[in-house]
Amino acid sequence: MTSKPVQYAEIVVDIPLNKKFHYGIPEELGNRLEAGHLVRVPFGTRTITGYCVGFTDTPDVKKIKNIKQIIEGVPRVDEGILKLTKWMASYYRCGWGEALSAAMPGGIKKGAKERRVKSARLAKSVDEIKNEIGLISKRTPAQAKLLSVMLEDNADMTAKELLTRAGSTAPALAKLAERGLVELFETAPLCDDVLLQPSQHTKAVVSDDILSDEQKDAIGKINDFLSNGKFGVILLQGVTGSGKTEVYLRAIAIAASLGMCSIVLLPEIALTPQTIRYFQTRFAKIAVLHSYLTDANRRKQWKRIKDGDVDLVIGTRSAVFAPVKKLGLIIVDEEHENTFKQDTVPRYHARDVGVMRAMFSSATAILGTATPSLESYYNAMTGKYSHVVMSRKIGKMAPTLIETVNMEVEFKETMGFRYLSRRLEDNMTKALERDEQIILFLNRRGFAPFINCRKCGFILKCKSCDITLTYHKKTEKMVCHYCRAEQLPPKNCPECSMANIKYQGFGTERIEEAISRRFPEQTILRMDSDTIKEKDAYQRMFSAFHNREANILLGTQMIAKGLDFENVTLVGVLSADASLNIPDFRSSERTFQLLAQVSGRTGRGEKGGLVIIQAFDTEHYSITRAVKSDYDGFAKEELEFRKQLNYPPFGRIVRAVFLGKDEKRVIEKAHLLTSKLKYCAEMRSRQISVLGPAPASISKIKDKFRWHTILKAPKITLLHDIINDSNLDREPVAGAQIYIDVDPANML
Ligand code: ADP
Ligand code: ZN
Repeated sequence: MTSKPVQYAEIVVDIPLNKKFHYGIPEELGNRLEAGHLVRVPFGTRTITGYCVGFTDTPDVKKIKNIKQIIEGVPRVDEGILKLTKWMASYYRCGWGEALSAAMPGGIKKGAKERRVKSARLAKSVDEIKNEIGLISKRTPAQAKLLSVMLEDNADMTAKELLTRAGSTAPALAKLAERGLVELFETAPLCDDVLLQPSQHTKAVVSDDILSDEQKDAIGKINDFLSNGKFGVILLQGVTGSGKTEVYLRAIAIAASLGMCSIVLLPEIALTPQTIRYFQTRFAKIAVLHSYLTDANRRKQWKRIKDGDVDLVIGTRSAVFAPVKKLGLIIVDEEHENTFKQDTVPRYHARDVGVMRAMFSSATAILGTATPSLESYYNAMTGKYSHVVMSRKIGKMAPTLIETVNMEVEFKETMGFRYLSRRLEDNMTKALERDEQIILFLNRRGFAPFINCRKCGFILKCKSCDITLTYHKKTEKMVCHYCRAEQLPPKNCPECSMANIKYQGFGTERIEEAISRRFPEQTILRMDSDTIKEKDAYQRMFSAFHNREANILLGTQMIAKGLDFENVTLVGVLSADASLNIPDFRSSERTFQLLAQVSGRTGRGEKGGLVIIQAFDTEHYSITRAVKSDYDGFAKEELEFRKQLNYPPFGRIVRAVFLGKDEKRVIEKAHLLTSKLKYCAEMRSRQISVLGPAPASISKIKDKFRWHTILKAPKITLLHDIINDSNLDREPVAGAQIYIDVDPANML
């Protein structure tokens, strides 16, 4: 008879190294330890938290240390998430432990790490304990009492409750543990507060017989995918108002009827109480996950999801890791949004992780949007994804007219500068006369984006960042929009001391002032991150506009979606080409998407709508195509441009960023590692290009200098290869950090 080989645990920890560490399993853990458990392990001189990801009988070190304990009261990570995070680690070049940490959000782990309570459970059988009580009741009554209280419930109990109920003391309990009758352990405190009020489950708002043909087709297609139980991705490209949400709701219902759970991912700003309520009216068993949840609530939601108590999980980026039992459907709404990409480690894209998760679970993924990312669109064109198009708005909506005003011509004709073109101003006046509402969009907050000296040309920049300071009039401060540093506006030029400071350009604050001067009798709502700092401010403004307490709403991109009011008949875009000038290969795509989204804020009712786009470069294809609401035409031109330069979706990009306070070291490091990369690229394939190093567009943030190198290749695996070859992510870096961003969403 051969004896079973000794098993060792494979543990990953939250460090930037994709490596499994081997640990012994102490006897007292017996066979309780499973893959997915959160454990405490000795690591160097410290004890840290790690995840058990598997077992081995061939440890890679001689002197093996033991696991200290399993952390109780924390949900075990299931196999699917282990697989997914393993993929993330290798794809996004991070530690498996780092990926797992992202999958176990704040409260879940925190419950384990920080707020833990001592708990106790019986370690022997009921009969043995009864026997023991008889034996010791005379000699050590305190211990006997503890045991009898524990017998009453025969369940895990916090030490505090136990001691109170038994009227006993901690040393007595410790003694019982020492004698092996009781097991002491630490657990997350149990919480009973409920996040959601039980919701009213109502019938479908849209009855079957009024579904549009396009909706029926889309639902039919999704039904096929769900019933055949194989992995598949559907790009649902539907114009604003085509009724995508109804399609989602039907799809979720189909999945639920097949006993499967759905996850809906929304961009942060779209997850409003209105949206949640909308889903709640249709599904009773729903869990919500977002960043504002208290730790206790998040744990509660997780437990419900894990126990299979919900049909639907709705949440922001990290909800992609929701521990659902049987996943049927992942819906990523507004899939083109770059808020799905996390800009800290692990730098994952929730859409792409969602698609992988669907693949590992043989589930269906639906990517919904009016303006697909070029990546998803290309995947649909090449047949990798199914493509479902909904091109018509629901119901009797009057058409939306979109037109442009060239501001250069406008300035010439009016012989001067103005914020609002005559065309926009006239139409505002008309709309207000008819008591209709107006939305004005400007993606820049503050009063003036920079100040300069008219005499010597000096421009005031942040001391810690390579960014101009924005003047905020209400607070009378110059503010850095990157590090939030503030200073008083200088009276005289800090350079030449002349009193010649000029406040240049305009942000929402300045426009608000200009409009209230032009329309003094109007109430103006301004929505940007300065005005919605207070809790509920967004909701208050939303309701005020909804109740028509104001007819003009001015704001940054937070007003670009979700505001669907029939009475809005005019939308003005004040500086449409501002986003075109951002040095990023996606700037045209972003501009088109933004214009399409903002335009969708009108034309919701029978009154129709007018959109006026003010810009200098009115001939740019992002703008001309937006005017025609022609996504496909835009995509065609943009794909042509991407193809020429091998940008995504044709090529894949990895960005290596070098950071540090000592500029010289950063430059040195950037050069050293980039030449190494160039060497490795040459050895591998001619298809890889390594561009750089160069200072990043924003060459300093928070006192750290920034350089970057761009790696490009037709296949991501080639880039993974040269990162491996060059040891890039493992390079010890004194005086300079390096991070790797796979599929970067932002090149600044
Ligand atoms: P999208 O998300 O595609 O922009 P929505 O899902 O917001 O569009 O749908 C627009 C509006 O039309 C919503 O108020 C929705 O309740 C309504 N709606 C959806 N489908 C139908 C339908 N078949 N008949 C009537 N109204 C519908
Ligand atoms: Zn700054």
